[in-house]
Amino acid sequence: MTFEEFDLPPFLLENIRKKGWEKPTEVQEQVLPAALSGRDVMGGAPTGTGKSGAFLVPIIKRLCERPGVGVRALILEPSRELALQVANEAAVLCDGTQIECGTIIGGADRDAQLERQCAITVATPGRLIEFLRKEAVDLENVEVLVIDEADRMLDMGFRADVNKISEACPSRQQSMLFSATLEGSGIGRFASEVLDDPEEVRVGSGDGDKLPEDLKLRAYYTAGDEQKCRVLVQLLTTRRVRSLVFVKTRDRVGMVRALLRRAGFDVATLEGDMSQAERDGASRRFRDGACDILVATDIAARGLDLPDVKAVYNFDMPTNAAVLTHRSGRTARAGSRGVSVLFVLPEQIESLDSISRYTGREIEKRHIKGVCAEFPAARPQGERSEKKRSRASESGGFDKRRKEEEKKPRVKKRYRVIKNKGKPDFAEKRRRKAEIAARKAAAHGAAPEGAAPSGAEGASGDGEGGQP
Ligand code: AMP
Repeated sequence: MTFEEFDLPPFLLENIRKKGWEKPTEVQEQVLPAALSGRDVMGGAPTGTGKSGAFLVPIIKRLCERPGVGVRALILEPSRELALQVANEAAVLCDGTQIECGTIIGGADRDAQLERQCAITVATPGRLIEFLRKEAVDLENVEVLVIDEADRMLDMGFRADVNKISEACPSRQQSMLFSATLEGSGIGRFASEVLDDPEEVRVGSGDGDKLPEDLKLRAYYTAGDEQKCRVLVQLLTTRRVRSLVFVKTRDRVGMVRALLRRAGFDVATLEGDMSQAERDGASRRFRDGACDILVATDIAARGLDLPDVKAVYNFDMPTNAAVLTHRSGRTARAGSRGVSVLFVLPEQIESLDSISRYTGREIEKRHIKGVCAEFPAARPQGERSEKKRSRASESGGFDKRRKEEEKKPRVKKRYRVIKNKGKPDFAEKRRRKAEIAARKAAAHGAAPEGAAPSGAEGASGDGEGGQP
């Protein structure tokens, strides 16, 4: 399938071409026909599958073909980063038109956002609700509403806000909701509140998307990029097989490529912004066996046939089970064996457990002595031993000094004793002087100057007062 088959305006086809999108992704193939016909859409598709293009292309086509004013398309995102990313993508696709793209997001200048309300507005619910309360934004003209990453939106407690926002769009003609998964978390009920007879689309969750039977899943507990790199180099060194390394962004492709080259590996890379000729060249080098390691983002590796891959390294954790399945499906094909390795940060342990539950597969938790620590043992909430706490530390379990300190017996230090160490004991001197003076006075039958009698003012009883 090609973008030309969708009867898109020439400027849009040209901007798609400039972005380097050769053909629609799977989610675009499925969403575009329904969305271009004006139907509501409920899409199950994870990030990285090209779903922003799937809703932006129909929005842009509609906006340039019909006249209108004010905010005409409203896209809700759960985070500022995603909102900016989608707004940037929209701006590139609208290049050469009058259609303006902007954001209403937290952490940015309110006045600038109020002044510039664009035909395509990408917003986070918090700031938009604030503007709606102040009647500072007008959503009366919104024709298309998109709720992106709806599962995250629900997790973050935005359900009521999103419902309020959709009620504030009375002229809405089309609504689209996307979520990494359509199962659980009340997505179905949420969708029924905002969508009208939607076309349901799923990517990466069908029966053909099961993990291969002969695939082994392994996980390593890593504190950060530095430790991930050490584990990756160690694994690639001990197991020199054709391997795919998945990272989440193109910057990280560069980072991992530099690291592996420094470690002496020959590496091919694939990332979204490469020209078709560069992409072809990289996949050919890997396919022909000129190099054994290919570092790629999910989208760049999509649709590529890369035979005989023995190991998949999830340098960055897959965002969900569907993405893991997609990546891991590159190995253990046609009865051959393969392994998919996950690098897990301390805050991703829960995601690892949910991926294991969702796929119904056990993930073997491993460690490498001197390189990365064991996973912390699962324990009932609230219980936390000193030993396990050191493993879960930022340093990934290599905080030796702290462990040594924990072993030393604690001695209570008395400040006064330390302070006077090595100094003359003036109290003792005074006491002795007073004793001598008292003895002399007794011999002469009179009290001498400076010798305090028992019970007199100045005898404090703390050892400093000269009490004989
Ligand atoms: P998304 O899932 O929308 O966040 O998209 C992930 C990445 O895929 C972005 O960098 C998009 O620019 C890119 N992308 C979207 N559609 C296509 C396509 N048809 N071909 C190649 N890359 C695409």
